[in-house]
Amino acid sequence: MAGVKKGRYCGFCGRQDKDVDLLITGIDSCICNECAERAAEIVHESKPSMKKSQLRFDSIPKPQEIKKYLDDYVIGQDAAKIYLSVAVYNHYKRITQPVTGDEVDIEKSNIILVGATGTGKTLLAKTIARLLKVPFTIVDATVLTEAGYVGEDVESILTRLLQVADYDVEAAERGIVFIDEIDKIARKSDNPSITRDVSGEGVQQGLLKLLEGSVVNVPPQGGRKHPEQKFIEVDTKNILFICGGAFDGIERKIAGRLNTQVVGFDSVEQRSRVDFNNIMRYVAPQDLKAYGLIPEIIGRLPVVTSLQPLDRDALLRILTEPKNSIIRQYVKLFAIDGIKLSFEPEVMDFVVDKAIEFKLGARGLRSIVETIMVEAMYNTPSTGVKKYVVTLDYAKQQLDKADGTILDRI
Ligand code: ADP
Repeated sequence: MAGVKKGRYCGFCGRQDKDVDLLITGIDSCICNECAERAAEIVHESKPSMKKSQLRFDSIPKPQEIKKYLDDYVIGQDAAKIYLSVAVYNHYKRITQPVTGDEVDIEKSNIILVGATGTGKTLLAKTIARLLKVPFTIVDATVLTEAGYVGEDVESILTRLLQVADYDVEAAERGIVFIDEIDKIARKSDNPSITRDVSGEGVQQGLLKLLEGSVVNVPPQGGRKHPEQKFIEVDTKNILFICGGAFDGIERKIAGRLNTQVVGFDSVEQRSRVDFNNIMRYVAPQDLKAYGLIPEIIGRLPVVTSLQPLDRDALLRILTEPKNSIIRQYVKLFAIDGIKLSFEPEVMDFVVDKAIEFKLGARGLRSIVETIMVEAMYNTPSTGVKKYVVTLDYAKQQLDKADGTILDRI
């Protein structure tokens, strides 16, 4: 029979306090630092994180709920919101359903969002990310190059996904990737074939491998700076890809196609039904092909949807309506100093007019408001005022002064 241990010792490994660095005393027994660390690791490894068993289908928001959430932050763009909500919901369905053996294999529907810059593509992706219960990452297609060239290999996309999934491969394999600026890797039609199209077709071929679902060797640290690293195998079969791009000038391709179609049908009535002011809404896979995406990629992006250009009314709403609208953000900044900030309603119209005049769209709204507000933000915290009203005159005056540097103005 083992003798009864004398003194303080670890109740897990049995070592006495003189043999360990630290012994933590509990009610009936102690634990040493090494056992405590090991226990912490076990707890960490068994954390539910985003493991499959944790994702229950009945806890998943329905498409209408997803869209409602998007509505709180993104103005308009209903078509894109609906397509995104359905795609995400179906993605959840696919990854939470047990294998039934009924041979109905739900295939994923990767999406492509086409819309001018500053219409909310990235905002939609970022907003939906906050709602997702699977790993999600946004990558920029412009940094991707064909293997062997300066830039990042397409596999780096999966490195990013692995990183956000805490290297839980199973979770990453059910994640969602948003690839921004996909139009920048379009094949340049005037590119002579003697020089390799480093940033175009080669990258598309690489991307195709990920989109169509295959097992990819992913460098866990990314890049080529760590040649010694061991690759991690990631199966992309269940990863949902959402692509976004401005496709500058694609309107001409769409219009060309519509014109030929309409002429083909020889129908004045059909032609008049086409809204030529908002041609983007008619975007179709063949336009993406004409723009320079290879057919195989287009085939893997079965859902094509467009974002509308933002009109005056939409810009006005963007300024004030979203939950974290620009105006609300400034009101909060002032509130932290105990100052109640308000704007004359005409200031909003003025800001929107300027954004349109400068051809800056929604992106310009923030910089215009910032220019108007910077002097007030510099002065008010020291003045002790409790209320601050931005008048139209003040807004005009600040923007007029904006030619110089900020330091010149204060
Ligand atoms: P894109 O990715 O289409 O080029 P972004 O999503 O980056 O455009 O939009 C730039 C900024 O403009 C956003 O951060 C947001 O402040 C504003 N914005 C653009 N579109 C919208 C929209 N539909 N609703 C609300 N804000 C928008």
